[in-house]
Amino acid sequence: MKDKMNLKELGLGSICVQAGWQPENGESRVLPIYQSTTFKYDSSEQMGRLFDLEDSGYFYTRLQNPTNDMVASKICELEGGVAAMLTASGQAANYFAVFNICESGDHVILSSTVYGGTHNLLTVTMKKMGITCSLVDPDASEDEINALFKENTKCVLAETIANPALVVLDIEKFAKCAHAHGVPLMIDNTFATPINCRPFEFGADIVTHSTSKYMDGHAVSVGGAIVDSGNFDWSRYPDKFKGLCTPDESYHGITYCEKFGKGAYITKATVQLMRDLGSIQSPFNAFLLNMGLETLHLRVAKHCENALEVATFLEQHEKVAWVNYPGLKSNRYYELAQKYLPNGTCGVISFGLKAGREATPKFMDQLQLAAIVTHVADARTCVLHPASHTHRQMSDEQLKEAGVAPDLIRFSVGIECASDIIKDLEQALKIV
Ligand SMILES: *Cc1c(COP(=O)(O)O)cnc(C)c1O
Repeated sequence: MKDKMNLKELGLGSICVQAGWQPENGESRVLPIYQSTTFKYDSSEQMGRLFDLEDSGYFYTRLQNPTNDMVASKICELEGGVAAMLTASGQAANYFAVFNICESGDHVILSSTVYGGTHNLLTVTMKKMGITCSLVDPDASEDEINALFKENTKCVLAETIANPALVVLDIEKFAKCAHAHGVPLMIDNTFATPINCRPFEFGADIVTHSTSKYMDGHAVSVGGAIVDSGNFDWSRYPDKFKGLCTPDESYHGITYCEKFGKGAYITKATVQLMRDLGSIQSPFNAFLLNMGLETLHLRVAKHCENALEVATFLEQHEKVAWVNYPGLKSNRYYELAQKYLPNGTCGVISFGLKAGREATPKFMDQLQLAAIVTHVADARTCVLHPASHTHRQMSDEQLKEAGVAPDLIRFSVGIECASDIIKDLEQALKIV
């Protein structure tokens, strides 16, 4: 028997390619797709034990599927966590991450610049479920952040690099405030990806992803992921995290923290939330996600290299009013980006035209290589005007709070030749 390689000793690029599915002798080299709703057992008693969580094993894909678990374990290795799960979308990931430790009557602190979908999830939909939230400016001081905590606060949620405001979060500052109040810091790491930042290294406790973006990378499948660092000690606050620290009657009184230790949080989200709310990723989408992950390290580096070239071009162009890209030395988040994302930030740039909001649609319509799509962070360059598209339900006041100027153009730089992306911008800028 050959010795097995130790994943913990591999660099991130090797993890992208090699982690997850580890074939035994004679097995499929490539991750198999378990395209099956269900799994067969020889005895009825064994099946019963699975339902009691006394044995581990697959029984129904709404809860768990081997293909999904292999891909989740790769993302887990990339983030340096202890347990992970896939969800049907990034929305489901953020919803489950929060709802796993919150119930009616609880409170969440949310960065005001998060993605519009997350903003709406917390401030509108979860509010209807009795979970309230306070918005915090990601640039707020520790005193200002600390002032927002209440008795019933259960977590803090923010993004490493906000979509589309491109605010870089001071993760250590937020982790310190959250931990001082006995609650976990959750970080949506979609834009940075673990290639550029691993939030657990700076004190974050839970990481979420919309895998629909760079992880999939080709805009072929919607998906999400939740990763637990294993560092937050829920059992230190048994009154606050009752769902993890007291018996679950729907599983004959097991207590997640006692029975599953560091796996408690992800186990609970799987066996309770997936069971009841059913937002599993399809195994086929997980297979596609895995193909994307195999080149994540190459693509993210190229996205960042291209984005810096494009941002530099835009910054020097006479028709461009402003450019926001945390990789630019002139950017207000440059220092924070150097600390948290020294190898690159992301491929997304935002900018505004001197000709203003009125000229923006005309400019976008003139682009040839860059397509107008409701997406970011895939291989093909694309463009969107949040005030008229993703954020159109927001008032001017809300847009401002979300860090989205009315004239903001979100430009997601792909992995084509930078010179061609620049040429396209050049010709479109001629007409405004
Ligand atoms: C897109 C996105 C989401 C939502 O993910 P979906 O996969 O579209 O459901 C959440 N957070 C961030 C930062 C995103 O960019």
